This record gives sequence, structure tokens and C-alpha cells, in this order.
Amino acid sequence: MHADHVRRIKERLDIVEVIGDYVPLKKVGRSFKGLCPFHGEKTPSFTVSPERQTYHCFGCGRGGDIFSFVMETEGISFSQALELLASRAGVSLEPVRKGASGGDVRSVSALAQEFFSESLSGPGGISGRHYLTKRNVPERFWKEFGLGWAPSGWDSLWRHLRSRNVDEKDALACGVVVEGNRGLYDRFRGRVIFPIADVSGRIIAFGGRLVDGEGAKYLNSPEGVLFRKRECLYLLHRAKQFMRARGRAILVEGYMDALRLHMEGFGEAVASLGTALTSEQADLVKRFAPRCYICFDADAAGQEAAVRGMYVLQSRGLDVRVISLPEAKDPDEFLSAPGGPARFAACLDEAMPLVRHHLFLRRDALRDPTQREQATRDILSGVAQLSSLDLAPFVPEVAAAFGLFAHQLVELVERERKVLSQSEQGKSSLSGVSITGGKEEEATDPVEAALLFLLWTDASRRRSASPEGMLPLFSEERLRHIVMALLSGEVPEELEARWHVIGETYPLRVVAFGGEWCARLEEKDAWKTVVGLLEARNRKRQYEALQLKCRRGEATDEDLLALRDLAQKLKGGKDSA
Ligand SMILES: [Zn+2]
Repeated sequence: MHADHVRRIKERLDIVEVIGDYVPLKKVGRSFKGLCPFHGEKTPSFTVSPERQTYHCFGCGRGGDIFSFVMETEGISFSQALELLASRAGVSLEPVRKGASGGDVRSVSALAQEFFSESLSGPGGISGRHYLTKRNVPERFWKEFGLGWAPSGWDSLWRHLRSRNVDEKDALACGVVVEGNRGLYDRFRGRVIFPIADVSGRIIAFGGRLVDGEGAKYLNSPEGVLFRKRECLYLLHRAKQFMRARGRAILVEGYMDALRLHMEGFGEAVASLGTALTSEQADLVKRFAPRCYICFDADAAGQEAAVRGMYVLQSRGLDVRVISLPEAKDPDEFLSAPGGPARFAACLDEAMPLVRHHLFLRRDALRDPTQREQATRDILSGVAQLSSLDLAPFVPEVAAAFGLFAHQLVELVERERKVLSQSEQGKSSLSGVSITGGKEEEATDPVEAALLFLLWTDASRRRSASPEGMLPLFSEERLRHIVMALLSGEVPEELEARWHVIGETYPLRVVAFGGEWCARLEEKDAWKTVVGLLEARNRKRQYEALQLKCRRGEATDEDLLALRDLAQKLKGGKDSA
């Protein structure tokens, strides 16, 4: 929808001209330079590229295209920037503006909610009712929590909406229908529906648990005019009064977990909707309670990532406590067992402060010489985000775990804080320039950014590149997601419009950063160079992993062969370089 406008506006406007209205630019080689409007500086590190139609600041890491530039300098939303630039470019926005207004989408959400909840009690809702009964959700709670049923047919909801004169644009903007080859069809089919409301209780999205048919177990509405995942917590509108009264929130991962807690008397529970915890969510919780108990699934793989999110919450001023449930159960399961609520209350009493939980989580790694360094680094980068006041009570424990004296640890933390604040200001050279915006973002590898840029700008590369070949070259999860989207046929303009709408600035900054990096390569075949660098890096990593196995005496014959093979390739790479 927006993609067409984005494309047409970009065809007509030149980024040098647009940015030139705000910043005096001077031509240097093939690009333009000026003083960065986003951070104070005396020597220009702000670069605008007319070829790529992007800008990037080597000082503060900001970057993007005309839309992100205007949004950030004017402090306006994407739709406002679209309007502003469209009028400058003489592009008409008529078809898009209609149907994208919040009010219309709200009324579609309300209609859909009505339909889902009627379907649950209707003749077609038997599978849904059966599921909820099986999951031990008594009928009296269905209405209270607005639970519903999305019928298995292709377009039951869409036909209902059409009969109420809802037009296609509004239905699409609401996210409850999807556009297919033969017209619109329902996004949610054969699913139990959990309505997602904003803090004042207005429905902004739906979550669906699959019961009938095939597909992902859980499905959410896409982000849109009303729904921004990172600013949302499931059941917050009901939990806020309990949070205020009890001075705490209980944060869980799934709808069913939050629902179960509410049913069992823990009305202060909210769920994070499966995203990494965000500073927006932290601020939401903080509005109602100073303390946040977190109870996530004990899946070992995701724990370090989960802890990083918890530091985001704590660094926004929340007192974070971590609940571990025995027998690694999820809260729903745990509370449903006999005596569950009382045992859960006991777990709340025993919840650990975040830092202590982190030490506990990594206790084995801290004792293992091969993992110790990584574990130390992870813990250090976490605790460095905390205020000295928050950290003080835990200094002796952390120091002991690191085998240091307290004053040594404090020095180490100070140093880490400097590194963090420097990388925020991005005062580093080309190789180490980080893409930073918020505290929770880490440095992005320039070579990976470059490869993303090359895929982003070249449709034929996207068609010929395979996910199997490309994905392993990216160590960063967020980049892998973008690359996966590109390789599965998503159009850059489409993605871009969506990101702008939800205020996601990271991907475009990486694209701009990667473009600058490619430009500095000054090589004819940037693709070959960039892929070559990343492949070599992967081989080196594999080689090191195999070597470690050998040293530990765990290597198989195959490992040894692979090691020899890799050694030859690595050597060959060096010779030709
Ligand atoms: Zn800057």
C-alpha cells in the first residue's frame, strides 16, 4: 500500500536536495559531506550519497533515507513524513490515506471482536469450546476476557465484515484479513482468539492459538496503525489496577500464562507477546508499579537473550526479580497443578534479584575455562547498564564469581560503562563503527551490513542467492530476519514502508551503513569481496570449534578430516589474499 508512494516519492526527490535544506552540504568525491544534525560535531562525519540515496553519520551511527531523515529532524511520524514529502514531490496520497485512519480501523477491530466471541458460543465454535475446556478455562471467564473463535472457513469473518459495509482497505489495515490471489481471506482460521487491548482497554490486535488445521501454533495481528508490539503488554488494561495496589507486576511470556495467573488471583500479571523486552514496555510497567517479577520459560537456549531484556527493564528503573519455577514448567502448567497458586506465591517470595539470577544462570560457565571469558563478558555488559546504586549491593557477589577484589570489579564496570557510552556516541573508526540508537542495540558488523546492503539494492542477487548460502553468513539475528524476508520475495520498498510505520529505524540504518562501507571498499566486485570475507570468517570459526574439540579429545574421525580440509582452505585463502 505505502510501497508505491515510497517508490514514487523517491523517484522524484533527490536526497541531496532534501537534506540540503537542513544541512549545508559540500561535495567530496562522489558524495556530500556536512556537519551531522543529530549530534554536535566540529568536523563533518555526516555523509549523503546521491547514488544510493542514503545518508550515514560515522560519528553517531544514524543513517537511512529521506523518510527517516525527515521523521527524525522534524520529529514526525512516518505518515506525516509521507504527507510532507509527497506534497514536495507532487505525489498524490489519496488511495492510501483512505482506510488507514485509526478510527475506521478501531471500529473494524470492534466488529471482529464481536464476531469472534459470537462464533465461540455459536454452533461452529465447538472445537474452540472443546480446546478451552481441555485447557481448563471455565466458561465464566470466556466473556470476561473476550475470548473468541475464528472459524476454519476461508472468509467467514470477511463475509461478516462485508455485510456490515466494511471496505477492503479498512479490513486490511486492521490486519484481520489478508490479500490473496483471489481476493481477501481471513488471517485467523481455526484458532482460539485472545483479543489484545491497549492500556485503556481498546482492542488493537488479536492473538490466535491454532486448534484446527495447519500453521503456526500462535499467530498475532501484524503491526499497523493501532498495534505496535513493542509498546504492548497483554492484559495490561486489567492488570494495572492490581499493579498499583500491589506495587508489582508479574511478567510472563504467553497469553495462557497471563490468563491463568489472572484466573488464580494474580491479577497483576501481563504477557510480553513473545518479543524481546523493550524500553517502552518497561516504561508502561513503571507507570503502575516499581517492581517487576519475571517468569519466563526455562528453555536454556533463550535464557541469555531473556536476561538481556531484563536488564533493559532494570536500567529503566524497575526493580527486576526473576522467578524460577521448579521442574521447568510454564506458569500455566505450574498453576494448574494441585496446590499451584500457593506454590507460585512461594516462588514469588523466593524470586532472585536480576544480578544474582544472572550469576546463577551462568554458574557452570563461570567455572569452565573455555566458557568463562564469554560468561564474564555477558555478565559485565549486563551489570554495566545498571546505576551504581542498583549494582552496589551485588558488587561482592559478582566480584567473588569473577575471582576479583571488589575494587577491581568496580574499575572493570567503569571501563565497560565507558565502552558502552562511547559506542553510543559512536566515537570509533570505520571498522568499529556501531549502529546504535537505543541502549539495547549492539554494534553491527560492517561486513554483514555491507552484504545486507548488496542484497537490498540488487533484485537479481536476491533472486539468485539461496537462504542456505546466505543466512549462515550473518551472525546477527535481526539481520538474518531481514535477509530471510528479502530472499522470500519481500520487496524492499514494502519492508521499508512497514518499518517506518512501526518506527523501526534499525534496518535502514544498517543498509545505509553497509552502503558506506561498500563505497569505501573501492572494489569493482564488492559482492565477491564481502561474501569472501564472511565465508572466511565462518571457516575460521568452524576451525576453532573443531580445534577445541580436538584439544578436549572429543573429535571424531570425521571432525579430523574436516579440520584438515578447513586448514587447507584457510591457508589457501591467506595465500591468495
Ligand atoms: Zn551524527
